[in-house]
Amino acid sequence: MAAGRKGVSASFSKAFTRCSIASISKCETQDVARVLSASCRHLHGNSAAIIGADKYFKFPATRCLTRHFHASLELLARHRGDDSMDLKSSKRPKVVTSGKFSKRKKEVKPAVETPYVPPKLARTGKSLDKTIEIFEGMTIVELTKRCGESISTIENIITNVGEKADSEFDSLSVDIAELVAMEVGVNVCRMHSNEGGEMLPRPPVVTVMGHVDHGKTSLLDALRQTSLAAKEAGGITQHLGAFVVGMQSGASITFLDTPGHAAFSAMRARGAAVTDVVVLVVAADDGVMPQTLEAIAHAKSANVPIVVAINKCDKPDANPERVKIQLASEGLPLEEMGGDVQVVEVSAIKGSGLDNLEDALLLQAELMDLKARIDGSAQAYVVEARVDKGRGPLATAIVKAGTLLCGKYVVIGSEWGRIRCIRDTARKVISQATPAMPIEIEGLKGLPMAGDDIVVVESEERAKMLSEGRKKKAEKDRLKKLEDDRQKLEQEMLEGEENEENADEKERSKRVEVPIIVKADVQGTVQAVSDALKTLNSPQVYLKIIHAGVGPVSQSDVDMAAACDACVVGFNVRNPPAEVTLAATQAKIKIKLHQVIYHLLEDIGNFIVEKAPGTLETQVGGEAEVLNIFAVKGKGKNKGEDLKIAGCRVMDGRLTKASIIRLLRSGEVVYEGCCASLKREQRDVDAVGKGNECGLMIEDCNDLQVGDVVQCLVNVNRKPKFVSSESGAVRIEC
Ligand code: GDP
Repeated sequence: MAAGRKGVSASFSKAFTRCSIASISKCETQDVARVLSASCRHLHGNSAAIIGADKYFKFPATRCLTRHFHASLELLARHRGDDSMDLKSSKRPKVVTSGKFSKRKKEVKPAVETPYVPPKLARTGKSLDKTIEIFEGMTIVELTKRCGESISTIENIITNVGEKADSEFDSLSVDIAELVAMEVGVNVCRMHSNEGGEMLPRPPVVTVMGHVDHGKTSLLDALRQTSLAAKEAGGITQHLGAFVVGMQSGASITFLDTPGHAAFSAMRARGAAVTDVVVLVVAADDGVMPQTLEAIAHAKSANVPIVVAINKCDKPDANPERVKIQLASEGLPLEEMGGDVQVVEVSAIKGSGLDNLEDALLLQAELMDLKARIDGSAQAYVVEARVDKGRGPLATAIVKAGTLLCGKYVVIGSEWGRIRCIRDTARKVISQATPAMPIEIEGLKGLPMAGDDIVVVESEERAKMLSEGRKKKAEKDRLKKLEDDRQKLEQEMLEGEENEENADEKERSKRVEVPIIVKADVQGTVQAVSDALKTLNSPQVYLKIIHAGVGPVSQSDVDMAAACDACVVGFNVRNPPAEVTLAATQAKIKIKLHQVIYHLLEDIGNFIVEKAPGTLETQVGGEAEVLNIFAVKGKGKNKGEDLKIAGCRVMDGRLTKASIIRLLRSGEVVYEGCCASLKREQRDVDAVGKGNECGLMIEDCNDLQVGDVVQCLVNVNRKPKFVSSESGAVRIEC
């Protein structure tokens, strides 16, 4: 029990004390002090999140369980009190008496200097990032083993979440298992069983991937033409469009579209995660390109077979054979070279080869024997999510197994809701959705994240519980990451102090922070844009995304931007209302709205370049050749010495009087010093341009010779450069 208590208080005491130790010993520079005091504030802030955290799971006061994120501050304080006061402890040190009434020696403890020894964590062996597999009907003892906790601890938590635990061999619902696992601080992976359910063939889910401009959208459009439903209303979303193509045979294929730009890599990865087959589109006139390779990597890592569609075969410079050789050399085992990857030559524009592509996909699906459980509660996967003004949060999803019914309670990531309405790709309201169906669901309380799993739960109470538990877990993970980042920064700064002379470090200290607010139309795009913007970070400018959200730029975004002096970036969102634009103008807040990711990145890239402090560099501003030496008798610095004036011609740039002059002889620097005099036709001048002749004297340098080269050194502030590559990747070059 005591070990458990220590475990609870450990993370907090450790954090608070780290803060105090650091502030005492390490605050040698103002910056460090600032960072540390911010950390302390941050930790205080954490406590606010923790107060009342156990309102949901109630633990008996007499029994202390080992947990981190649900421990209340009160509980922690109590534990600290127990440990420090130790009033009734039998282990109290004996008082050594010298006489009958010798006084108890008062222990004097220096309050501040006493080194802090953090209490040992109760569960030292367990990794905080541990993930366990859980499934419906698992027994308490099974869960106990996986969590690495005692049976009594697990049973206690089960009771606290309102379930009965009569025997350790009782089976648990997967939701309760997840709640328990979250409570003891481990991550879960839900395993789904199809036992008992009838497995029926299902349509394949196909994702089209490939390099930008290779014709993915055109190919999907061409395929869509063959789909009656899609013709009626188009895809569900323009970002991860989904539609079903019905074949004459009665079979159907569900297609997912993914954007091609480098910034949307996460979206493509999500596409690969939910898909059965990847159609790799490669333009016959362009061949294998960076995103082609990335698509192959996504498909391989998701263990998804590829069907290659060599597109644009109608073009005169099309060379499908070259593409095949390139793909083979990238390790793709093509069918015609003895492998199992089918290759189809198509033209999206001419509509040729599409039936071959569909046949190839159905053949691939047949080989895979795709089946799914139709009955029973559904599992689905969110491919996109957005907020609709009238309908609230909407999730585009693909059903993986079971039947999703309208009216059911669902938990999606850390959000929950009751499905109010399901629409198919033709936006028709349907009452249920079966495997491989792309659908849009309505009725969620909050906006889920693309990539989240949809799980159906039995009641509103269970949905709320699970959602609450997941939110707390997510918050705990977030705080842990913040703490890790803070420690990293602290470490960096300490290392930096040691290398104060280091020029690089001086650069870093000049790094400016540019706060940004990101708004986009759907959740996946918010993520993609935020990730893409982060690639613009450089040693000179750090883009700090202070808020990212779905929907148009609002008054609260402008208020936040005004408070933090941030710039607001909107991607694929409509123009803000006039009053918001006016407020932004008055507050001098920049709102940058874009529809094309290239333009957005270029715009922000240039904005960053503007904000960057730049680096001071010495450059050669002009170069002249010494053509003649004029000696002025006896005027030299040393007695009797002649004063030498160099008669020069400026070959390049300008010579300026205010600059440092460098003297070179046979390519070697022989002197550097100030310009003592610069004359043109007997007149003192400040600068002499290219092609002109001048008389030059260098301070304290009388060793001038014909043939010497004189360089004029100027200090320039070199700004970083925005660079974008052909693949769409961007960076700031300093
Ligand atoms: P995505 O970026 O991969 O979605 O590419 P798009 O579908 O937007 O196509 C890029 C360009 O290639 C467009 O100008 C299309 O008209 C053109 N294109 C696409 N498919 C074909 C094709 O089969 N033949 C020819 N000649 N042009 C094509």
